[in-house]
Amino acid sequence: MRMVKLTCFALNIPFMEAFTHSTKSRAYSDSIVVKLESEDGCTGFGEGVPRPYVTGESVETCLEALSGRFWQQLQGKEWPTWSEDPGLLDRLADLLDGPADPAWNAGEPATRGRKGDEPVRAWNAARCALELALLDGLLRKAGKSAGDLLPPLRKSVPYSGVIAASSAEKAGKTARHLGAFGIRTLKIKTGGREEAEVVAAVRLAAGPDASLRIDANGAYSPEEAATRLAKLALYGIACAEQPIARGEPGVLAELRKASPIPLMADESLVTLADGKALVAAEACDFFNLRLSKCGGFGPCLALANLARSAGVRMQLGCQVGETGILSAAGRHLAAHLDELVWVEGSFGTLLLREDVTRAKVQFGHGGMAPVLRGPGLGVEVDEELLRRYAVAIVEREF
Ligand SMILES: [Mg+2]
Repeated sequence: MRMVKLTCFALNIPFMEAFTHSTKSRAYSDSIVVKLESEDGCTGFGEGVPRPYVTGESVETCLEALSGRFWQQLQGKEWPTWSEDPGLLDRLADLLDGPADPAWNAGEPATRGRKGDEPVRAWNAARCALELALLDGLLRKAGKSAGDLLPPLRKSVPYSGVIAASSAEKAGKTARHLGAFGIRTLKIKTGGREEAEVVAAVRLAAGPDASLRIDANGAYSPEEAATRLAKLALYGIACAEQPIARGEPGVLAELRKASPIPLMADESLVTLADGKALVAAEACDFFNLRLSKCGGFGPCLALANLARSAGVRMQLGCQVGETGILSAAGRHLAAHLDELVWVEGSFGTLLLREDVTRAKVQFGHGGMAPVLRGPGLGVEVDEELLRRYAVAIVEREF
């Protein structure tokens, strides 16, 4: 069964309301959805969310990589067949990662996007989109669910609410709305000048028992970070995600010693090599795994194994603007990794004007969402909606 066609949809789905954090305000989803077809009619969908400040990929360079280097690598290859063999994800890795290509992995000039862009650290959004599409197609063909590959260890998954960087008044209001929806676990985007007021307003609105954590998206300088964290610690903060920008793990390790709040690596953790360096430096208490950031199920499971063996706890995060495809994949991974301390994502039409999956994948009251059991990733994609919201469609046929 050979792969014969690749279609990439670069989306622009407006948000219900713009979402802001310390480095970016975003008003629409710019996910890339990949559709793969085999010669005998096997079809799968996957999704990646390129972010220049996370992996170095942009929508433009990611489309080029998918329809160029990645498609060349997949061309004419056999679609792996289903087996209960846990090495299935490794076999997909053989297809996707191919022979070691240092120029593609080391951020050398050949891997740069446009002039002035960050070098590409890893083509993880592209890899994630392809891995999920391959897996979705292969599982459907075999009449299996992603849950057959990643057996769920719980019946439902609890999601956190996330509060964008904004004014104290607005943050308090959002916290009250989320509280009325039964959500008692919240992450607050910080980094602005009024962050202490914002966190105070959320604590007041959410009450003393709510679990609060913060994410500065690297906004603090190493010199000021400990002082800012000490100030926010007064409000009872369970974890501080990426307080300083990605850099030497030793700098994060120094901050960890001085911080009254446990630290989580997010933008610092893109590849397995990043994870190993963070562990070696004892730089963080938590890893934030994200499917698109880390390259799909295979790399996320490798990072989870590393975290487990090093005593680092884990969160499964998301990219803002994920559609139901990545939300479904995240649900399977979260149900499988029951040791995750927090899970984020599955915002669906709470954030997007319209989602591209037929059934809603978003969480319900209390942030709870059931394990998905349908074939493949467990969601049906509405291709008409993909075409309606696509700003670019790139096709390659063998
Ligand atoms: Mg983060």
